[in-house]
Amino acid sequence: MRAKEINCQYLIVGQGIAGTTLAYSLLKRKQNIYVIDDGYQHSSSKVAVGMFNPITGKRVVKTWKADVLFPFLHHFYQELENFLGVKFFFPKTIYRPFESIEQQNHVLGQAAEQAFADFIEIDNKDEKYKGFVFNEFGGAELKQGGYLAVSTMLEAFQDFLKKEQLFLQTNFDENNLTVQHQDSIIWENAQTSVKINAKKVIFCRGIQDGESRFWKALPFRAVKGEVLTGHFQEQLAFEEIINRSGWVIPFGNNTYKAGSTYDWDDTSLEITEKAKNEILDKVNKLIKFPFACTHQEAGLRPTTTDRRPLIGLHPLYANVGLFNGLGTKGVMLAPYFADAFCDYLLEGKTLEAEVSVLRFLDTSLQN
Ligand SMILES: Cc1cc2nc3c(=O)[nH]c(=O)nc-3n(C[C@H](O)[C@H](O)[C@H](O)COP(=O)(O)OP(=O)(O)OC[C@H]3O[C@@H](n4cnc5c(N)ncnc54)[C@H](O)[C@@H]3O)c2cc1C
Repeated sequence: MRAKEINCQYLIVGQGIAGTTLAYSLLKRKQNIYVIDDGYQHSSSKVAVGMFNPITGKRVVKTWKADVLFPFLHHFYQELENFLGVKFFFPKTIYRPFESIEQQNHVLGQAAEQAFADFIEIDNKDEKYKGFVFNEFGGAELKQGGYLAVSTMLEAFQDFLKKEQLFLQTNFDENNLTVQHQDSIIWENAQTSVKINAKKVIFCRGIQDGESRFWKALPFRAVKGEVLTGHFQEQLAFEEIINRSGWVIPFGNNTYKAGSTYDWDDTSLEITEKAKNEILDKVNKLIKFPFACTHQEAGLRPTTTDRRPLIGLHPLYANVGLFNGLGTKGVMLAPYFADAFCDYLLEGKTLEAEVSVLRFLDTSLQN
């Protein structure tokens, strides 16, 4: 049987948060794209809870580049919702109860500074939460946070791609990839009888790209995470995300997600009692009512040793690119950096050195 031939400018491999945001950003710039994904059900994006939170960590600081990333992500996901006609973006107040008086002083001091005005609410709202949250040291409401229903977004975007005949569900075997010359690649799959000719291939396969012959020199690091779904035995009806060292996100109908864990050693996808107990312990210290877990999931976050994304073209193969390393914050990082990658690919703008793959690859190889 003769293979079906597909011609495009960009072949995107992997349709998680990275592949989806990059594909949409390229489409907006009138590029011809084609997307391949293997449909794996336990990818990082499918397990992710999708929270975006501008003020994080034990030290309660603004997350990296929050001032540019947050306005960008709000606009991006709302625009994508409108484009697809599906709701998956849920801005929400995040209530952060303090751990100590010292932390209270630190955060309230910050809240008064102009640099934090967009992210921390000055007004005291502790009364509203004290019936169900342990907030003996008070707390602060954070602005511009929320969650993205990631799986809903991925499904809606895939439906769109299928309708436009821009999607193939199959395993992308790198052995079937021929890198022709500076301006073309061919990927042929005998099983599906498909031959794809593209100007560039962009790898967006999450942690699997760490095994690629093109990218194995990069310092990928899989960080396992587990999350619980369940309900509170007392019928609670709060709308806000509650977040301290653990977090609880309301999904409606007395359904909540709680998480999460970070394991740098175990790279299996097995769910564990240890992680479940760790999360339940965090929830019990946060919410005054018992949480009943009905479901538990595990995934591997594609992080990097310096906690920054991995973006760019290969120094030896200018038609092979990577959009990856989104780590623990894919929802927040992907829209802005997908756009920055498009600027680089289409307009020749410079990629920030902090996210470029060239910070790890031998640039002397560059043509
Ligand atoms: C438990 C947990 C909770 C998380 N919570 C949050 C959160 O609240 N907020 C947040 O911002 N981030 C969160 N993350 C991190 C977030 O999930 C990642 O940053 C993000 O999903 C990475 O997306 P990606 O597209 O790079 O990779 P992936 O999601 O791994 O996507 C890769 C895609 O490529 C496909 N693929 C892989 N190999 C092949 C192949 N050979 N052929 C074809 N297709 C292939 C996969 O099936 C998948 O669809 C969480 C992660 C975990 C594990």
